[in-house]
Amino acid sequence: MIDIGANLSNKSFKDDLPQVIQRAKDANIQAIIVTGTSIESSDAAQRLCNQYPEYLFATAGIHPHEADNYNQEIEQQLHSLLSQSCVVAAGETGLDYNRNFSTPANQRQAFEAQIALASQYKKPLFLHERDAFDDFYSILSQHKAGYTKAIVHCFTGSKDTLRAYLDLGLSIGITGWICDKKRGANLREMINYAPLDRLMIETDAPYLTPHNKSVKEQLSKKHRNEPWTLSYTANTLAECLAIDTDKLIAATSKNAADFFSIDLNK
Ligand SMILES: [Zn+2]
Repeated sequence: MIDIGANLSNKSFKDDLPQVIQRAKDANIQAIIVTGTSIESSDAAQRLCNQYPEYLFATAGIHPHEADNYNQEIEQQLHSLLSQSCVVAAGETGLDYNRNFSTPANQRQAFEAQIALASQYKKPLFLHERDAFDDFYSILSQHKAGYTKAIVHCFTGSKDTLRAYLDLGLSIGITGWICDKKRGANLREMINYAPLDRLMIETDAPYLTPHNKSVKEQLSKKHRNEPWTLSYTANTLAECLAIDTDKLIAATSKNAADFFSIDLNK
């Protein structure tokens, strides 16, 4: 399995990251992509890759919440991060109008700038969208020629949204949200609309712990999700798709390895 989104540079991991990584390896996680959401966290994610080469990989980008801070200097730093081989995607970027921590105009500007970076470095886009479908869709449609591959991470939208993203050629990231029978009900019911070759799985650790009693009891820190919980998301997603978990794991791992150009045999 590959966890395509874990925020391992989050301060909640600073005291015991080696153990967190070991537990991930023991749970058959073959690689983890550490999400960069600000220049600091992108930089930290890249340093983590150097500590755990060929196991941790990173994205470099500015989350829509941070878009007000986007400027020339940050863009220069993104250039130098994206030129490194362990940085396998541009992002997390996109639009989040849920609470508008940054202005929508700044979010759109930072988003378009990062699409341009992804295309310049020929790296896939790692995307975030919340309550901003119309603008998000229109920006991606306008720049379709500019990027090669893109994934909407932590997908929790409607079937119409899913269909629109698939039509745009996007891949879909599924988190432990799907394990929540209540909040994830709609997702559980319609995710089988997505072809298997477009799906990947992620924990979004330390957030989004799968709703599962056994997971909660085994977490080493209460309320802190870890990459080892990914198998629970894999199990639930396989159930929703009515396929064997082994088949789901093989497919999503291959999708992630191809998408992020990761060689699992290294
Ligand atoms: Zn996100």
